[in-house]
Amino acid sequence: MPNTHSLKKKVVIIGGGITGLAAAWHLQSYSEEALEITLIEAAPFLGGKMHTRTLQKDGASFIIDAGPESFVTRKPEAWQLAQELGLDGQIVNPGSETRNMYVLDEGTVKKIPLSPPAFVTSDLLSLRGKARMILEPFIPAKRDDEDESLAGFVTRRLGREALDKMLGPVLAGIYNTSP
Ligand SMILES: Cc1cc2nc3c(=O)[nH]c(=O)nc-3n(C[C@H](O)[C@H](O)[C@H](O)COP(=O)(O)OP(=O)(O)OC[C@H]3O[C@@H](n4cnc5c(N)ncnc54)[C@H](O)[C@@H]3O)c2cc1C
Repeated sequence: MPNTHSLKKKVVIIGGGITGLAAAWHLQSYSEEALEITLIEAAPFLGGKMHTRTLQKDGASFIIDAGPESFVTRKPEAWQLAQELGLDGQIVNPGSETRNMYVLDEGTVKKIPLSPPAFVTSDLLSLRGKARMILEPFIPAKRDDEDESLAGFVTRRLGREALDKMLGPVLAGIYNTSP
């Protein structure tokens, strides 16, 4: 009898964060050939940055998301993955009152404009800063192959003010690091 086990193509995925787990799920679900998938994770738990803890204090229970707690719904991939995994029933709509993003701008809490009309009327950016952002389509592409930080990329394409007042705080909030 042939040993079917040894005929399987072997795939090793390093890292059991969402990237590695999604890759494993995708290969297992959609590969046309039989695969032997091994996922290697250094930490004692799966999920990587996605990490939820429940804290008990004074008889009450608090859920703490140590990393990500939301995803962008404009793009279909996360929805699709949640549906495939049967998790879509557990997704919580954040509600309209928490749908906005705010930054602390020199001591004042200001809303990050998320639509063209809000961008035009926003007092977060100066007129000059807004004009620099609007010029983005006319900024020529980078010609060299040198590595570029996220801050360098945003500054080059959208200007320093866009980095300092909008994208920098948002990206720092998402990745918990300096862009
Ligand atoms: C505080 C915070 C809030 C965030 N909020 C959001 C949010 O709301 N929405 C959103 O979309 N994104 C958010 N992000 C970003 C999001 O968490 C990450 O982009 C995403 O989780 C990265 O997943 P990953 O699998 O690529 O990497 P990771 O989650 O970092 O997973 C990598 C895994 O690989 C393992 N590993 C590394 N090296 C090795 C090795 N040599 N051998 C074996 N295992 C190894 C690590 O232990 C880890 O488990 C947030 C991030 C942070 C830090």
